[in-house]
Amino acid sequence: MINRLRFEPKELEMLRFLSRRLELPLKNENQYLHLEKGYAGEQHFDRELQDLPDSCIILNDLLLENSNTHFQIDTLLIAGGTIFIFEVKNYEGDYYIENERWYSLLSKTEIKNPLLQLQRSETLLRGLLKEFGYHLPIKSHLIFINPGFQLYQAPINIPAVFPSQLNRFLEKLKTIPNAAKSRNLKLAEQLNARCLKENPYVRIPEYTYDLLRKGIICSSCTSFLARFTQGYLTCGECGSKEKVDTAVLRSVKEFAVLFPDRKITTNTIVDWCGGIGSGKVVQRILGKNYKIQGHGKYSYYIDK
Ligand SMILES: [Zn+2]
Repeated sequence: MINRLRFEPKELEMLRFLSRRLELPLKNENQYLHLEKGYAGEQHFDRELQDLPDSCIILNDLLLENSNTHFQIDTLLIAGGTIFIFEVKNYEGDYYIENERWYSLLSKTEIKNPLLQLQRSETLLRGLLKEFGYHLPIKSHLIFINPGFQLYQAPINIPAVFPSQLNRFLEKLKTIPNAAKSRNLKLAEQLNARCLKENPYVRIPEYTYDLLRKGIICSSCTSFLARFTQGYLTCGECGSKEKVDTAVLRSVKEFAVLFPDRKITTNTIVDWCGGIGSGKVVQRILGKNYKIQGHGKYSYYIDK
């Protein structure tokens, strides 16, 4: 059973929205692509865990703190009397290890050793469990989820699960006997309660409303849509068709995420959508899906 769901990281959502309306600085563009890939890998692993028995407790995306140090766990699994922590890596291509350092084979550049991050999380989690009064064994694994990943010169005892081993590993997890369910649930609750609400490491480049390109972006590709006909917008690039209502609502959501402090008004959204919908159209859509506050030209919309 899943005791803590995974949500798309806010940082990823914001960077995705920004990347379409702004030329991101290279480092943010790379950060965005890295997050997008990482999140896809985590979702892939989530799907693989779906068939585990209900007695297994899964906690996703834990951001915890111990001894004033933050640490993040992609997936934590409590099965029987053991805690598993998984660090999911969506690496692609060829890598190798030399003198305990990790390198990309193609670029010959060193990458961060993912084992160090895993060990650090394990140590900090152990401290936290001790504080809670648990002395359960922790087994940590790197999960390499991408079938296009190859690691050379890996020591035989490396705590990693490679793509070709994943099925066998999952089958092994399924055989762990069900034990101490109420204790495990209590532990899951304690961990959940200790999770930080906000990620302190979110890095978003500075931006202003004026800097961003206005318009409605196609939901299938990333091009900007032109005017609509008969209630539908058709993408000139990929040909996908979308109802004007859903396209405007998607854009309102983007606006609200990027500018949480600004009020949603008809005029703002008309401008944000690049004038694709008239005031009348936008007002109708907002009125139907949001709650109006205030009157006349001072009115604005909030979530229902
Ligand atoms: Zn398109």
